[in-house]
Amino acid sequence: MYQHYIECQTCGRYSEFYCNACHQRMCGNCRDEHLKNPDNTKHEVCNYKERKLKLSSIPCKLHPSQLLALCCKKCQQAICALCTIKEHEGHGFLDLEEVYTKHHQMRLDQIRRIRDDIIPQCRVRLKETMDARNETKEYVELTKSIMKVQAFKMKELVDAVLTENEQNLQKFESSAVKKLENQETALNIYFTQMQTLLECHNESISCANPVEFLSKMKEMVDIDPIPEISKINQLVFTDGKLNKDEIRKQFGALSIIK
Ligand SMILES: [Zn+2]
Ligand SMILES: [Zn+2]
Ligand SMILES: [Zn+2]
Ligand SMILES: [Zn+2]
Repeated sequence: MYQHYIECQTCGRYSEFYCNACHQRMCGNCRDEHLKNPDNTKHEVCNYKERKLKLSSIPCKLHPSQLLALCCKKCQQAICALCTIKEHEGHGFLDLEEVYTKHHQMRLDQIRRIRDDIIPQCRVRLKETMDARNETKEYVELTKSIMKVQAFKMKELVDAVLTENEQNLQKFESSAVKKLENQETALNIYFTQMQTLLECHNESISCANPVEFLSKMKEMVDIDPIPEISKINQLVFTDGKLNKDEIRKQFGALSIIK
């Protein structure tokens, strides 16, 4: 890489000073020599880094024989010596190089701030935002699948309850039907008995022989009572009130965490 050496313009040694009046780099020794010269005693010598910038010589537009060397305080524009006693009289003025150096420095500071602080911070924020966007998307997908699993579980529970109820209904059906079948059988047997008895009795009263009739009277049996019909308990399904709010409570809810 190109190494930038700041050499004393008088002796060529490393220089760290600068005469703002002569716009010259100088080393410590040469500075002392420079200031010893009676012509230069008022010269402002500073650190090279804090030097005043040298402006190229530009003639005044209003007074072309003069170079722009000052800055009008009021109009904030470059003016020449003649301007101060003519167009810009009484406006007050500043050293143009000083103003230029100051603004140059401010601009440099701004460049550094933008380059070293603002842009890197901006990059960090941009990355954070992008990461947050991706995380949000991933989280939404995850939540979606968790909710699907929850819904599946609820459906499974509903199916389990249905199966349970179907089994109970089945049990009820078999016991009730069995009971009714037994009842039917008993009634059928009784019915047959009664028909037979009816036939026998009819036969006995059609007999004209009183001896025979009376002998048959001895065989008279008591008539059994008609088998009772026992009532079957009815089974009813009382539907639970299905309520979205309750289901929502059991399912879970989405909420925003700040
Ligand atoms: Zn020197
Ligand atoms: Zn000087
Ligand atoms: Zn002028
Ligand atoms: Zn002015």
